[in-house]
Amino acid sequence: MERSQAENKIAQLRAQLDEWSHQYYVLDAPSVQDYQYDQAYQELLALEKQFPDLISPTSITQRVGGQILTGFSKVQHQIPMLSLGDVFSKEELGDFVQKLWENTKQTCAYSCELKIDGLAISLRYENGVFVQGATRGDGSIGEDITENLRTIKAIPLQLSEPVTVEVRGECYMPKEAFAKLNEQREQKGEAVFANPRNAAAGSLRQLDTKETAKRQLSCFIYYVMEPQKYGLMSQTQALAKLKEWGFRVNKQAQQATSLEQIMEYIDLYHEKRSSLPYEIDGIVLKADPFSVQQELGNTVKVPRWAIAYKFPPDEQETIVRQIEWTVGRTGVVTPTAVMDPVLLAGTTVSRASLHNPDYLKQKDIRLLDTVKLHKAGDIIPEISMVVLEKRPKDSQEYQIPTTCPQCQAKLVHLDEEVALRCINPKCPALLKESLAHFASRNAMNIAGLGQKIVEQLFDKHLIVDVADLYRLTYEDLLKLDKFKEKSATNLLTAIDASRHNSIERLLFGLGIRHVGAKAAKLLAQHFGDVESLSQATSEEIAQIDSLGQVIADSVVAYFANQQVKELIAELKAANVNLKYLGLSQEQQQNVTSAFSGLTVVLTGTLDQIKRADAKKWLEEHGAKVTGSVSKKTDLLIAGHDAGSKLTKATDLGIKIIDEATFIKQMEESQSE
Ligand code: NAD
Repeated sequence: MERSQAENKIAQLRAQLDEWSHQYYVLDAPSVQDYQYDQAYQELLALEKQFPDLISPTSITQRVGGQILTGFSKVQHQIPMLSLGDVFSKEELGDFVQKLWENTKQTCAYSCELKIDGLAISLRYENGVFVQGATRGDGSIGEDITENLRTIKAIPLQLSEPVTVEVRGECYMPKEAFAKLNEQREQKGEAVFANPRNAAAGSLRQLDTKETAKRQLSCFIYYVMEPQKYGLMSQTQALAKLKEWGFRVNKQAQQATSLEQIMEYIDLYHEKRSSLPYEIDGIVLKADPFSVQQELGNTVKVPRWAIAYKFPPDEQETIVRQIEWTVGRTGVVTPTAVMDPVLLAGTTVSRASLHNPDYLKQKDIRLLDTVKLHKAGDIIPEISMVVLEKRPKDSQEYQIPTTCPQCQAKLVHLDEEVALRCINPKCPALLKESLAHFASRNAMNIAGLGQKIVEQLFDKHLIVDVADLYRLTYEDLLKLDKFKEKSATNLLTAIDASRHNSIERLLFGLGIRHVGAKAAKLLAQHFGDVESLSQATSEEIAQIDSLGQVIADSVVAYFANQQVKELIAELKAANVNLKYLGLSQEQQQNVTSAFSGLTVVLTGTLDQIKRADAKKWLEEHGAKVTGSVSKKTDLLIAGHDAGSKLTKATDLGIKIIDEATFIKQMEESQSE
C-alpha cells in the first residue's frame, strides 16, 4: 500500500475504532461484535507498524480503555492500569513465548489464567480495611466507585491480615444474572445489554448504589501491586496470598512450564468455556517470576510480560423463516426470529429474541435473510448481523405490527421506550400473567391461587380479568383438576379475605407500569382511596416524595383508560375495598420503636415469623433492612444456622440478637 493510501486508511480506521470504542466504553452499548472490532484494530496496528511516522499519540493504539464518565469523582492511579496485548492464533502465541525467552535469555514458568470478560477494577485496603475502589478509566485516571463496589459480596470489606495494599481484578456479571437482567429489561421496555461485560460496566457505574446492589455482580482478583513488599516472588505466589487475604481468586489458574502445557490449557478452557458460570473471552498468559516481569517492563499501553489469547468467535449462519410476536405480563410485545436450526456452542438453536422493534430495525433483519448467529454471554442466542450478500433480490423491509397479535388492540410506543406495548387490560396473553401477579403474596395475597390454578381457571373460561375472581362460585372451583370440597372452600375463603385488603395491595396487584409495592403504598397513603387517585393529575402525583414524573404519567395514563374504568367499577360492585386502611405517612413517621433509624440485617432461619413479615414490620417501625453486613449495619437479627453474615457481624463488633429477643422487642414496641 502506498503512503497516501495508508494515511487515508489509518484515518478511516481510527475514526471507526473511536466510534466503536465510545459505544462500548462510554455507552455500554457496542454496535459490533468484539471480533469485528479486534480485526479493525489489528489492521490499524499493522499499518502503523509499516508506516511508523504515521503513529500519533491520539491513536487508539496508544491509549488504554475509554473516557472517564462524569458523575463520579476521579481517582489517579499511582501505578497505571494497563490493557493487554492480544493474539488470535496459537502460532502468534508461540511466537510471543519464543520472543520472551529470547529477550530474557532464559525459559521461565507461566501463570495461565482465564481471561474473564468483565471490567478491570482496582481496590485499595488500609490496615486490612477496604477504603477505595476504582475503574480503569483511561489507565491513569479512573472513576471512584467505592460505594458501588461495597455492594458486591465477593469483595471483602476486611482482610484476614491488617495489610495496606492495592489489588486489581475483574468485576463481572455471571451468565445467569445477565440472562435474568436482560429478560427483566425486555419486559420493562428497556434496551437490553449486548453482553455480560457491558451489563457489568453499566451496573457498576450506576449513580444509585441500590441499583448496583440488585445486579448480582461478582469479581475475581488477580494482581497484587508492589508484590515485593509482601515478600512475593511470582504471580503464582501472589494468587495464593490473595486467597489467604480473603479475596475471590479464580481456581482455574495454573502454572505452566512448557509451551505444550500452555496449549493444553487453552484447549481445555476453549472446550469448557460454555459450561463456566461466567463468560471468558480467552486466556491470559503471564511470565510467572516477578523478576522477569520487572526486567521486561511495559509499553505505554500493555505489559511486555503478558499476553491475551482470544478465542475465535463461535458463530453460525442460518436463515430467518419467521418473526413471532409475543405478549408478556407487562404488555411488552417482543419479536423473536425463528430460524433454521443450527448447532451453536453445544446446543441446537432455532430462535433468537429480537428484543424490540428498534433493535430489529437497526439490524435490518428481514424474512429469508441469512444471518450470523452467536451466543451473548455464552447462553443467549443472538443475531450478530445480516449477511447482505446473501439477501434475496426481492427482499422487503420488515413491517412492524401495529396491533396486538392476541387481542388486536392498537399497540403503543410509550415515551422514551424502545418496546411496543399492548395496554389493553383485557388482552388474554397479558391477563393470565397479570392474574397470577394480582394474587401473589405482595399483591392481594390470595393463598392457593398460583400460576397453574390461574391457567386452569382461564382456560376453562371461568375467569378473564381480576374482577371475575370475585364472582367465582364453589361449583366453578370443583371443575378444576384435583379440586375437592376443602380446596374449593379454602380458595373461596382466601379470595373473600382479599376483599378487605388495604388498597396498596390492589394498586400493586393491578400491575400499573412503574408502580411497585413501595410506590403503591405512597399513592395509597397520599390519596386515601382509588377514586381520588384515579382523578389526580400528574402534577399532584409527581409532588409526592420519591415518586417521579415517570410514575405520575404512568398512573394518569392507566386510569384514563376506559377499560380500566370499567374494571374498577366491577371491583367496586364485587365489594372489593377501595380505601387505604393503614396509617398515614405522618402517623407512620410517628411510630417509634427500639428499631427506629437502625440499619438491620436478618440472617439464618427464623421459626416464629416469616422473614418477609419481619422485614415489613421492621420497615414499618422505622428501620432500614439491608441484605448484607457492613460497617454501616447497626444490628444483626440471627436465626439458627446463621452463616457468614453472623461471622462477619461478630468480626465487625456489630450488635447481634436472636429471634426470641427480637420477638420480645417487637411485642414491647407494639404495646408502647
Ligand atoms: P482486553 O479486554 O482485550 O484485555 C485486557 C483486560 O483483560 C484487562 O484490562 C483486564 O481487565 C482483563 N482481564 C481479564 N482477565 C484477566 C486476567 N486473568 N489477568 C489480567 N487481566 C485480565 O482489553 P481492553 O483494553 O479492556 O478492551 C479492548 C477489547 O475490548 C478489544 O480487544 C475488544 O475485544 C473489546 N472492544 C470491543 C468493542 C466493540 O465495539 N465490540 C469496542 C471497544 C473494545
